[in-house]
Amino acid sequence: MGTDEAAHRLRLLQQEFTTLPACGPGDGRTGRRVHPPVPLNLAVIDHITASVREVAEQARTAAPEAGPLPAAPASIYDWWRQNTPDLDDGAVQARETVIYRQSLEHAIAAGDHKVIRKHPCPGCGCWGLFWRPAAQRAVCVNLDCTDTNGMARTWELKHLAYEHIARQKMLKANAT
Ligand SMILES: [Zn+2]
Repeated sequence: MGTDEAAHRLRLLQQEFTTLPACGPGDGRTGRRVHPPVPLNLAVIDHITASVREVAEQARTAAPEAGPLPAAPASIYDWWRQNTPDLDDGAVQARETVIYRQSLEHAIAAGDHKVIRKHPCPGCGCWGLFWRPAAQRAVCVNLDCTDTNGMARTWELKHLAYEHIARQKMLKANAT
């Protein structure tokens, strides 16, 4: 679930934003589709590189003998799981939380801010979170949901991911 979604989103991101459009013959002035702006591509490439590096570091901390990274960035989550089959419950939860957080990050990097709405606000439980790009945080719309300064409460993706994976674990525990 979490892994598949994270891998899927990473693959999409790579395909959509980092593959240079093919240049046809001609002088390049007619009938060409508009290239995506280069800075966006570079930002996405940086994002993918940072995501892979984080997974590699975390995996090697738990499994120093882990082999080389897979060639395709989207395969890193499977690689991480395959190399860390014997983690205790807490470590599995931590791993899945990182993967889920990266999945959210990939969606947001692709411009899909709606993924935030699938999470209840950790402060008040309402379903009114939205993404504020400038702050890189989710913000609650509930006017009563404020911090000690009276400002709307905001949440980092890692916090939403933590709550999401903890909730999943609880549901699974209750089902058995
Ligand atoms: Zn709230």
